[in-house]
Amino acid sequence: MHLKGKTAIVTGSNSGIGLGVARELARAGADVVLNSYTDRDEDHALAREIADAHGVAARYIAADLSDGAAARGLIEAAGRCDILVNNAGIQHVAPIEEFPAVKWDAIIAINLSSAFHTTAVALPMMREAGWGRVINIASAHGLTASPYKGAYVAAKHGIVGFTKVTALETAREPITANAICPGYVLTPLVEAQIPDTMKKYDMGRDEVIEKVMLERQPSKEFATTEQLGGTCAFLCSDAAAQITGTTISVDGGWTAL
Ligand code: NAD
Repeated sequence: MHLKGKTAIVTGSNSGIGLGVARELARAGADVVLNSYTDRDEDHALAREIADAHGVAARYIAADLSDGAAARGLIEAAGRCDILVNNAGIQHVAPIEEFPAVKWDAIIAINLSSAFHTTAVALPMMREAGWGRVINIASAHGLTASPYKGAYVAAKHGIVGFTKVTALETAREPITANAICPGYVLTPLVEAQIPDTMKKYDMGRDEVIEKVMLERQPSKEFATTEQLGGTCAFLCSDAAAQITGTTISVDGGWTAL
């Protein structure tokens, strides 16, 4: 329970990695703020479920992070931010010459620019509290590339760079900023890519997972959302106080190849 008394805001946390991170930070004692762009009963129910399971305060704040003002408004509405996990992200796969400009703009806005806006509002709150952790969920695609993922790769390389700048601007303070680079995690974002990939390669679901997705991941296993959450909890621990401006790969060896 080393995070008791801290408030963690996790963007894009009504599913997948963000939800796993919120659960693990709550397990470590943090109060949590969940977020996505929808405002449904089931979103708020997730916060209640986490509060009941871990005896922490948890709430859900809807904000569409494709809009910079809304991203800033999320942190302002939370009122306190000791731990900021910039996790919200979307994906689109297409060759450069066919890549819709509107998709490019949305990916850059949600996967990259939203982190600038949330961090800008959160840093003064961390300074006032005298402690802070910024964790940006990048990707193995923040360190390597794949064809047809132009906007995603650009945004993820961008957020790795922005993490380093955040770390340098806070280096003399008890605030750290790091990026986590997951390989494949079987979340709704990855599930959504499976049907098209099945069509493209004329393969079944299992074959796509084994021969296309996990082909790049030497462990041949998906990482789990709990493992990503555990990595975040570690970055918030005293043991990680001197870890700043770096990337931690949770990718089963992808970037070692
Ligand atoms: P996911 O689709 O389950 O989660 C994405 C989250 O972002 C959801 O909560 C979604 O509602 C939210 N979101 C999308 N658009 C938003 C918007 N406009 N405003 C606010 N929230 C919005 O996918 P995931 O796999 O859990 O992805 C989470 C992060 O992890 C992303 O940044 C993704 O790029 C990164 N990532 C995922 C994998 C993987 O294999 N799943 C690998 C590397 C990196």
